[in-house]
Amino acid sequence: MVVVPNEIVDQFREHFQSAVTPVVYRAPGRVNLIGEHTDYNLGYVFPIALSLACYVSIAPASHGLFRAFSRDLARDFSIPIADLPAAEPRHEWSDYIVGVAQQLLKLGFPIQPCDLYIASDVPAGSGLSSSAALEVATALALLGGRELPPLELALLTQRAESQFVGMPCGIMDQYTSVFGRQGAALQIDCRSQTHQYVQLPDTVQIVAANSLVKHELGTSAYRERVAECKEAVAAIADIDPGVLSLRDVSLEFFERIQDSVPLIPRKRARHIVSDTQRVVDFALASRHNDLLEMGRLFVASHRSMQYDYEITCDEVDFMVDTAIKLPGVYGSRMTGGGFGGCTVTLVKPDAVDAFQQKLTQAYRERYNLTPVFYDCEPAAGAGRMI
Ligand code: ADP
Ligand code: MG
Repeated sequence: MVVVPNEIVDQFREHFQSAVTPVVYRAPGRVNLIGEHTDYNLGYVFPIALSLACYVSIAPASHGLFRAFSRDLARDFSIPIADLPAAEPRHEWSDYIVGVAQQLLKLGFPIQPCDLYIASDVPAGSGLSSSAALEVATALALLGGRELPPLELALLTQRAESQFVGMPCGIMDQYTSVFGRQGAALQIDCRSQTHQYVQLPDTVQIVAANSLVKHELGTSAYRERVAECKEAVAAIADIDPGVLSLRDVSLEFFERIQDSVPLIPRKRARHIVSDTQRVVDFALASRHNDLLEMGRLFVASHRSMQYDYEITCDEVDFMVDTAIKLPGVYGSRMTGGGFGGCTVTLVKPDAVDAFQQKLTQAYRERYNLTPVFYDCEPAAGAGRMI
């Protein structure tokens, strides 16, 4: 749902029947350009923060509750403030905000009774990280201007998702929402938890296309992949005990020893090791305005997710296969955790309209679904809006 920041204040007042003026915080979603599932393997990723964002408005209250409303789900939530520290997950949307509140309490930030009004235009469950946007905006709202170093903010919101929500995610989504910058992509080193900003060529448009499918397999398969990568590390560490994560494995070393790794972990490792290398190559190609190479790396990354990591699905494979045959397209791949969600495509700016029309037509004919497109201009990271 489109969010108009100036209208949120009125919506807050109307919903909570209150005359107070809330403070509004914004945290963006992100689209990852290359390096998928490499974050929890401590490799590189290459995302941009989006103008699509989650807005959390907050005001103190005297009712003794931690109270929230999600405009997008039309759902209320409340819990006595005294119950926050021991609250258990309910396996629903409120886990994201309660998880964040608990992490702040653990760091010694008291939380006072308050009302939160949540409105987001990041599509949920589509690989553009609505969850991190919600977590980071909530954390900023609950901090209310109290100082926390940005890396701590990214790490605490990641812990909320991995420990409370129960999704063993890497650092990419929350990190990007915090550190995103207008006009630049981030090359994040997930081991050192540092990043460089990389300028993208201005002769290309980045277009995300939502397949509108979300296979339920997502969460369990994610856990499975995390476990399979661990198995691969264990097998490789038998050969070189210095290997603590797949980040420590170069492509050249992997190719030499891969036969010693059992088949499934071998395929998973091949994706992670090669996609980490592709991030480095992509950043270099971007610096050289080499769009053909960037496009080639996109498609190689997709094939790696399709055949080695096995996290794509028919719908997104079809979208990519269709896109790469269209005029003005340099490359296309699935983005995000997998099993549906969005593809991301590098397109010549003057070919974008025709690309969207043709892809829409083909996808409708095949799946009777109309994809939703998002222009992906790199936008700023999280902060206070009003
Ligand atoms: P993604 O992060 O790729 O969008 P996830 O499955 O990680 O997908 O997170 C989506 C979940 O985050 C939703 O199912 C919902 O529980 C929560 N969420 C995201 N945005 C909102 C929102 N605006 N209001 C309430 N919950 C939200
Ligand atoms: Mg998410």
